[in-house]
Amino acid sequence: MTGRLNNVFQFVEVDREDPSKKPLITRKGQFVEIYKPFAEPAAKEQSHRCLECGNPYCEWKCPVHNYIPNWLKLVSEGNILEAAELSHQTNSLPEVCGRVCPQDRLCEGACTLGEGGFGAVTIGSVEKYITDTAFALGWRPDMSKVIPVNKTVAIVGAGPAGLACADILVRNGIKPVVFDKNPEIGGLLTFGIPEFKLEKSVMTRRREVFEEMGVEFVLGTSVGDDVPFEHVLEEYDAVFLGMGTYTYMKGGFPGEDLPGVHDALDYLVSNVNKNLGFQENEEDFINLKGKKVIVLGGGDTAMDCNRTSIRQGAKSVSCAYRRDEENMPGSRKEVQNAKEEGVNFLFNRQPVEIVGDGKVEGIKVVKTQMGEPDENGRRSAEVVEGSEEILPADAVLIAFGFKPSPAPWFEKFGIDTDARGRVIAPKCNKFMYQTTNEKIFAGGDMVRGSDLVVTAIDEGRKAAEGIMDFLEV
Ligand code: SF4
Repeated sequence: MTGRLNNVFQFVEVDREDPSKKPLITRKGQFVEIYKPFAEPAAKEQSHRCLECGNPYCEWKCPVHNYIPNWLKLVSEGNILEAAELSHQTNSLPEVCGRVCPQDRLCEGACTLGEGGFGAVTIGSVEKYITDTAFALGWRPDMSKVIPVNKTVAIVGAGPAGLACADILVRNGIKPVVFDKNPEIGGLLTFGIPEFKLEKSVMTRRREVFEEMGVEFVLGTSVGDDVPFEHVLEEYDAVFLGMGTYTYMKGGFPGEDLPGVHDALDYLVSNVNKNLGFQENEEDFINLKGKKVIVLGGGDTAMDCNRTSIRQGAKSVSCAYRRDEENMPGSRKEVQNAKEEGVNFLFNRQPVEIVGDGKVEGIKVVKTQMGEPDENGRRSAEVVEGSEEILPADAVLIAFGFKPSPAPWFEKFGIDTDARGRVIAPKCNKFMYQTTNEKIFAGGDMVRGSDLVVTAIDEGRKAAEGIMDFLEV
């Protein structure tokens, strides 16, 4: 049995081997997460299931085009270290992608077995297993053949794009120096994504591995504030910007500034900071214990808010989304996890106002019905006249996504942005991901707009190739 018991949620024990697994045990009055480790027999069993299709759709659906059938075969034969070596040829953070990719929309969604109704090979779990196991066995990327080329590149931002760029550069003899304002690497991987999806020790271990490979990190240092960008530009042979998108989108309806309304990212970051001991002031912690919470949005950040609120002991958690379940942008797996943990989904509800006298008391929503597909193929939500209702709430989390936050110094250094604030750095350039300043490259969310971790990794890796071409390495 899983889910909610007696409206009391208390997490007393967690085996973090595989947070993607469903909770196995609940106790009366308590909600106990115990995950079965995804161990060798399960990894081998899943790997054996791969049909090794002649035209592996899973590889094509994976944004970094992982050699999935090849590493599944190596796992099925027990060659974990070879599988780790192979998986690192295409992915800089495979253990992270195995945990946080929406596999049901990517590799696993394209698995022939899944399409045949037999259940897709659990590719993400195997990918995570390979790197976790290889690291535990002492495996490290082989740097013995790397020849230094006497070039250094500054990387601004230690999120997935910056780390992926550093990975490719250091493997090609270039010294990357990665600056980040936070005290640990990972960006939103560390400070946004909740611990139950991505254990923080994963990023700590990855930092140690990168440091052993020769990547230098300058953490707790904000470029533009603590270090002038002029110095960075002068001192290094090239610069890569991977600064992400942190400005949250507003709903644009009345009541968004009422006490009790929080931006999703502020909420998630405050929770992680509290758990990691990085919190400076107690009042910065947003605690939803005992509250009636409504989360607005339908993406993975909304699901993170739902599941974190449940874990904080919210009295109830409802998630209102303006389209139907079919048209939600988030991972199906995450929606299912949230449902099983007790989140109440309100589909086809569009918020029009947050109501309350001095603080949040509820949300006024209208019902919607699905209309014609838009230019991206997603069906629009059409308002049903006269369907207004007020949903009671004493906390509201807004998870409508993020938009770029161009730094004030971009203009001074000739870094152009488009009308939406995204840095202009096309892939199809003479040098991939070069900005309008030839010495500066950029990738990830700040170029593409808010997207998946794995697409940021892909762009960071490709930008590194652009940098190497530019430096004629
Ligand atoms: Fe699947 Fe993501 Fe791994 Fe690619 S990187 S194989 S999409 S989990």
